[in-house]
Amino acid sequence: MQIPGHIDPVTTGTVPLRGGNRIDLVGLTRDAIGGVLVEAGLDAKAAKLRAKQIWHWIYHRGVTDFEVMTDIAKAMRPWLTDRFIIGRPTVREAQVSSDGTRKWLLAAADGQEYEMVFIPDADRGTLCVSSQVGCTLNCRFCHTGTMRLVRNLAAGEIVGQVMLARDELGEWPKGTMAGFGPDPDDDEEDEGGHYTADGRILTNIVMMGMGEPLYNFDEVKGALKIVMDGDGLALSRRRITLSTSGVVPMMARAGEEIGVNLAVSLHAVTKEIRDEIVPLNRKYGIEELLQACAAYPGAGNSRRITFEYVMLKDKNDSDDDARELVRLIRDYGLHAKVNLIPFNPWPGAAYECSTPERVKAFSNLIFKAGISAPVRTPRGRDIMAACGQLKSAATKPTRAELDRIAEEKQAALG
Ligand code: SAH
Ligand code: SF4
Repeated sequence: MQIPGHIDPVTTGTVPLRGGNRIDLVGLTRDAIGGVLVEAGLDAKAAKLRAKQIWHWIYHRGVTDFEVMTDIAKAMRPWLTDRFIIGRPTVREAQVSSDGTRKWLLAAADGQEYEMVFIPDADRGTLCVSSQVGCTLNCRFCHTGTMRLVRNLAAGEIVGQVMLARDELGEWPKGTMAGFGPDPDDDEEDEGGHYTADGRILTNIVMMGMGEPLYNFDEVKGALKIVMDGDGLALSRRRITLSTSGVVPMMARAGEEIGVNLAVSLHAVTKEIRDEIVPLNRKYGIEELLQACAAYPGAGNSRRITFEYVMLKDKNDSDDDARELVRLIRDYGLHAKVNLIPFNPWPGAAYECSTPERVKAFSNLIFKAGISAPVRTPRGRDIMAACGQLKSAATKPTRAELDRIAEEKQAALG
């Protein structure tokens, strides 16, 4: 999909195959698996049956070896092994924070690096997934924004993060699938999970890692469809949140075609400040963005939009800013909550975090207006795993290069 403007989507390009000349099945839909089986020589009927079986083994059971697929004839398994693989990203580095947050530096088949973060809480476990290597945008407070966009991640590389996390957390379902009821958290529109979320470690997914997911729409959509599939990873769409910096033209499609919760990185309530800290605002302004939020499918009913708001000292954290935020949410009739994120520092950042007292006062003003505005507790700061701290070391630009990258991205916004 093409959106006007130079900074808009960059094609994924060809990702070299992980298994040499074998095809990696991760990221393929059932139909696509059927398609590659036909190309390899199976007739259509056999391919359809095998695709269904293989899909189940890959996405529901998490296996990476065709030899353990017991409902596939023994003689056929080497045939599959010769032609296909079930890949995983390579783990380059795994770190654990003092607060239990875990961060993995991953490498794709072509050596490109990206990060994923797992945040355990008492009542949930959230995986923060990357959608791109780097980012075309340059929000001034974000470490990822100092990277060039290297490339979009493919659907298999996005869903591969969730699969690897399940490997690492040791939580693929064991034994037979019989007896698993539908997910009680699912609503009637869900595809119907085959086992419950109770007791799972990984319960939620946020598309809040590296990159702007709405600039990689098709691959993100493909990956999340697999994640939500009842006979796949079976996570309810209510447990998935996609965060955008405000790519207005793609928001309606995200609601209609993916249907997950939406988080919007608002961060400022005036044109002047938002233009500065989220330069995409020069292209899609606050009014347009809030209109798109009001029109987001499902918003206004049960599904609340989350506005993310990074707390930057003396930049966007005044009482007037808080009051203006409340006014905007009311004027646009939004059923929303605000997530206040204390700024997470990184080397070379030009901002400071607001004081805890200021954050509290800001939060109170919004709460008093009847809008929920919790302060997000920073997690994993000691291993640079907190919001906006992710950056793979693939490129280590100098200060001068950083300025040049920022200027280039700025110029591209027009
Ligand atoms: N690109 C998407 C999603 C990834 S960032 C987006 O911008 O929405 C996830 C969240 O962390 C966003 O709200 C982002 O603005 C915020 N963030 C970025 N840098 C941060 C920092 N240094 N401290 C706190 N939050 C930050
Ligand atoms: Fe990109 Fe999001 Fe960082 Fe902005 S905040 S630079 S959109 S990753």
